Amino acid sequence: MLMRLSQIPWNTLKETPADAEVVSHQLLLRAGLVRRLTAGIFTWMPFGLKVLRKVEAVVREEMNRAGAVEVLMPAVQPAELWQETGRWDRYGDLLLRIRDRHERDYCFGPTHEEVITEVARRELRSYRQLPVNYYQIQTKFRDEIRPRFGLMRAREFIMKDAYSFHLDQASLETTYQAMAEAYARIFRRLGLRFRSVEADSGEIGGARSQEFHVLAESGEDAIAWCDGDSYAANIEMAAALPPSAPRPDPSAALAKVATPKSRSIDEVAAELKVAPERCVKILVVEGTDGGVVALALRGDHSLNAAKAQRLSQVKTPLTLASPERVTSATGAPTGFVGPVGLRVPLIADHSALAIADFVAGANEAGFHHTGVNWGRDTPVPAAADLRNVVAGDPSPGGGGALAIARGIEVGHIFQLGDKYSRAMNAVVLDEDGKERPTIMGCYGIGVSRIVAAAIEQNHDANGIVWPGPMSPFDVTLLVLNPKNAEAVTAAAESIYVQLSGAGLDVLLDDRDARPGVKFAEADLLGVPHRLVVGDRGVREGLVEYRNRASGAEEKVAIDDVGKFILARLSTAAAA
Ligand code: ATP
Ligand code: MG
Repeated sequence: MLMRLSQIPWNTLKETPADAEVVSHQLLLRAGLVRRLTAGIFTWMPFGLKVLRKVEAVVREEMNRAGAVEVLMPAVQPAELWQETGRWDRYGDLLLRIRDRHERDYCFGPTHEEVITEVARRELRSYRQLPVNYYQIQTKFRDEIRPRFGLMRAREFIMKDAYSFHLDQASLETTYQAMAEAYARIFRRLGLRFRSVEADSGEIGGARSQEFHVLAESGEDAIAWCDGDSYAANIEMAAALPPSAPRPDPSAALAKVATPKSRSIDEVAAELKVAPERCVKILVVEGTDGGVVALALRGDHSLNAAKAQRLSQVKTPLTLASPERVTSATGAPTGFVGPVGLRVPLIADHSALAIADFVAGANEAGFHHTGVNWGRDTPVPAAADLRNVVAGDPSPGGGGALAIARGIEVGHIFQLGDKYSRAMNAVVLDEDGKERPTIMGCYGIGVSRIVAAAIEQNHDANGIVWPGPMSPFDVTLLVLNPKNAEAVTAAAESIYVQLSGAGLDVLLDDRDARPGVKFAEADLLGVPHRLVVGDRGVREGLVEYRNRASGAEEKVAIDDVGKFILARLSTAAAA
């Protein structure tokens, strides 16, 4: 397919838009791929849409290959369905609620478990129709509290969502595995560096779940992984193993010291000249029984909210107690709470429990204790894994140390079990003619987020550097304002006939513009292969080739250009 730039309005921006915080958002706007309509809502402009369609095509092919069948469900969903599962109330403010002229309630779907389960309970009658895996590529709306980062966290976005139905768990496992493999193929084919990680199944409920992350510095998620044993988990999930060495015996005496200026661990550590890992900090959070709960962590560690929420004593969502509640429950303001004489229930992280002679708040404004020891000065509290793992922690897989990388969640697969089918009575008749709720799985890919994630991972100072399979074009062909216009135009025609004959997507820059502008805009758009035709080259029968990623340049005979580009595309695909 050929597009002539002289016939398509295309506006790029030289300046970085002030409201775009991350590089993908900046480059999507600067390269004219999307335009913002309002917060978190975008129009796909022609070249951006080409990228989106390429991603969709790979997703569709791999879903079909894995045996899923495509449907298209409505965006607008009646409230009654969501009331059946209880999510009309529970889903909260992410749900965009709308009302029609008859005063009936609807939402704009943020996800489609309810709708597909309604389809399934009507269409699926017998175990003989199972398993089945329905998927769609469709527009979702989530009223995100802070729509930002452009396509990465939009309000309106495009998702591929799939839902599978099974008679039993074993069948679900098979499809879940097939989806995990299809996802890996999709991200590999798109040319992205990614990792699949064990994930928290969170709100959606159910048993196992796995996320797929595109690796990029700007990722909102931290993932822990170990090369030695291929362990990989979202930081929310990654287990911190209890230290293997036993707690040392006390050697210091308990003492109370004045620390009037110090509230944070860093301030206390600096004032008392101890390392933060020799301190214990206490976080006071709301409990499930109406009171508060104290959580103890080593000074250099951070609380993992997902882990804390899994404790039965701790209220979900995790809520820090207000300063007034902290003072009335402990007698000390935040920053001076400690385990000695503490009057509220205390749960300690394994690592905090493994140290002796530590520093902690004295439950009195302006004072800390030094030389604190569990068991001697305080009862030994209940132990739990409460902290985020850090680089260097032992891998739960046993194969060495954990490393931390940043990732952008682009896919998520879940085993749902019978949560939705039971709530909505989606049953089939089994071999014995008995009704059984179906077992479900669900599988999402952030199709539009992939476009942004690819840019986060692949860009340089001059613009986007598309992985070939996602690029809006395979080749840009620049025609530099020729003196001998006829000969150069003829050469350009012959080149793009060769290229489009080979099935390649070509952007012909035949605008009446300065060469410098054409070069800069070609770099910004980030098409992997660039060809330049000009007067001199045409006289010699040559075009100039430049590779966007490596910057390598070469002169190529005009007659060989088709073969030359094809050879480069196939090496890229094989790599
Ligand atoms: P996140 O944790 O990033 O909010 P999620 O876990 O709520 O995402 P899922 O319900 O798992 O999202 O949705 C499936 C996929 O849809 C996600 O893996 C992600 O790629 C994409 N997605 C979710 N929310 C957005 C959004 N606001 N903008 C763009 N893509 C999104
Ligand atoms: Mg998710």
